[in-house]
Amino acid sequence: MMRTNEHKVMRDPIHGYIHVDLQVVWDCINAAEMQRLRRIHQLGGDFQIYHTAEHSRFGHSLGVYEIVRRMVNEVVELHAQLSEYEKTLAMLAGLLHDIGHGPFSHAFESIGIWKHERYTLEIILQDSEVHRILKKAHPDLPKDVADVIANTYANPLINQLISGQLDADRMDYLLRDAYFTGTSYGKFDLERIIRTMRIVNQKITVKESGIHSVEDYIMARYHMYWQVYLHPVARSYEGLLTMAFQRMKDLYRIGDETLSKLEMFHPFLKDEPADIDALYRLDEAAALYGFSLASRGGDPILRDLTRRILHRDLFEYASVHDQNEVEQIREKVKALSLHPDYYVFCDSAMQRPYSPYKRNEAGHNIWICTAQKELRELSEVSDIVHAVCQEKMKEDKKVYFPKEVL
Ligand code: ZN
Repeated sequence: MMRTNEHKVMRDPIHGYIHVDLQVVWDCINAAEMQRLRRIHQLGGDFQIYHTAEHSRFGHSLGVYEIVRRMVNEVVELHAQLSEYEKTLAMLAGLLHDIGHGPFSHAFESIGIWKHERYTLEIILQDSEVHRILKKAHPDLPKDVADVIANTYANPLINQLISGQLDADRMDYLLRDAYFTGTSYGKFDLERIIRTMRIVNQKITVKESGIHSVEDYIMARYHMYWQVYLHPVARSYEGLLTMAFQRMKDLYRIGDETLSKLEMFHPFLKDEPADIDALYRLDEAAALYGFSLASRGGDPILRDLTRRILHRDLFEYASVHDQNEVEQIREKVKALSLHPDYYVFCDSAMQRPYSPYKRNEAGHNIWICTAQKELRELSEVSDIVHAVCQEKMKEDKKVYFPKEVL
């Protein structure tokens, strides 16, 4: 693999510096599809609650790359067992794993046919700038990078670095999202985890002496899920986006004039998947411009929903236990002359920070290795994690509606 003519560094608040000395990595960072991620927020609707959570998918992608780069160089067995090609492959998969994200991630996915995982693979495998860079560096790279991201690459050790229970993706987003939201929940000792990582029987494991930092990591997941990722206000904002997209889809189906100016959305409103060019053009800047046009457009429902998005006039929410409660709210919404299909929505959040699989598969469990090189699943050796696993799966069902209903 060709080296860059000088060692490149980029400052990063989580890792200090991101280090690059491979030309293919540097070229991928500078590719159009990667630069587009600067225009996609990392946390869909969370900047509506945590006003500093303005960080992008671009920064997170660099962070995942950096953690993988450190693992393949600093974890002794990884350094010894992986070839130069495989190390580069793992770093590239870390860098490119989120390249197919659309604007406002999950809300946006409700309108298109393909999810971001599918777009990620399409961008890597089809004729894109990233694809050409990978192919030029090594003809097998596009296929192999796509396989690692899809968790199907022949060497499971490499797959685990990107998607396992203790992978570079989660470790970066927990630390980064905690930093940019300003919360103190998501912190854990990444240095210590990397230092105590060992490879035993083709599995990523952590030495017994590293167990406390892994416990912190599990607790970070627990708190970040409920305080940040599943925050009801973020869900309210994302639901509003989903309703606006749904309205557009319904208007598109009947050929409504209102949508003639909103070309950026058209490919995603059709009954066939939009291509990677359409995805490239629809970043958050384009989507917000579309909302701005729609808020002055001809359809009263779309006009109101997009105004609410732009002005943060979010829906209220309440916990629900049965469908009757939802019906009552729909009736109240109708009484206000609002259309309940666009002004009432429900969602349900469920999360457990770590649930070990009974199967002995790599990547599904967190393994602790004893001094005798015996592997024990984390919840068997940690009382704290054991207690977390015993907890009932927490479910949070909510209904959202305009505040005028109250
Ligand atoms: Zn990610």
